[in-house]
Amino acid sequence: MDLFSVVLSSAASWATKRVLDAAAECVCGTSRGNSIPNQAVTQLTCPQCRNGISQFTNATNHTVNRNGSVAAAHISHANWERWGGLWNFKPHFRVDAVNSKYEDLVLLISLSRFGGEQFFKDQMILKPKWERTSWSDCSWSIDPCKFPKGKNTFAMDLVVMNMWGDKLNSVRQLGEYDS
Ligand SMILES: [Zn+2]
Repeated sequence: MDLFSVVLSSAASWATKRVLDAAAECVCGTSRGNSIPNQAVTQLTCPQCRNGISQFTNATNHTVNRNGSVAAAHISHANWERWGGLWNFKPHFRVDAVNSKYEDLVLLISLSRFGGEQFFKDQMILKPKWERTSWSDCSWSIDPCKFPKGKNTFAMDLVVMNMWGDKLNSVRQLGEYDS
């Protein structure tokens, strides 16, 4: 599951159009024209190698490069071991980025009671080293005493954004705790 490199047909076209004229280039090198809605998730599939991904596109002043390529990131494989009570809560996940201009990405985590108040938040900085960069095992270690007392459902929200706060991807996953 690799990100596609979305390249706009005109670097400025995002400003006036809700749907972008773009080429989506697969990691295998296959490129084809696409109409990609801006600030939305699109299912992209490669006709050649069958790589497919639900990718969020957000073309802004700060995400569109001079050549029209659009910075994108993706969070996947979010998981954790069953609630341990005494042990730290350790969510793991993977982040992929493409066309990020080697600029820092900010990763936010927050935990909240499902439908209720937030009880933990933190952030980390990711530094892309290549045109395509993957962080295959990002993780946090959170003291279980951060969780409210009782037995309940919680939501973990992960958001990756650029330094200007443009959202590149977000995911929400639910779990159970008993503290
Ligand atoms: Zn492909």
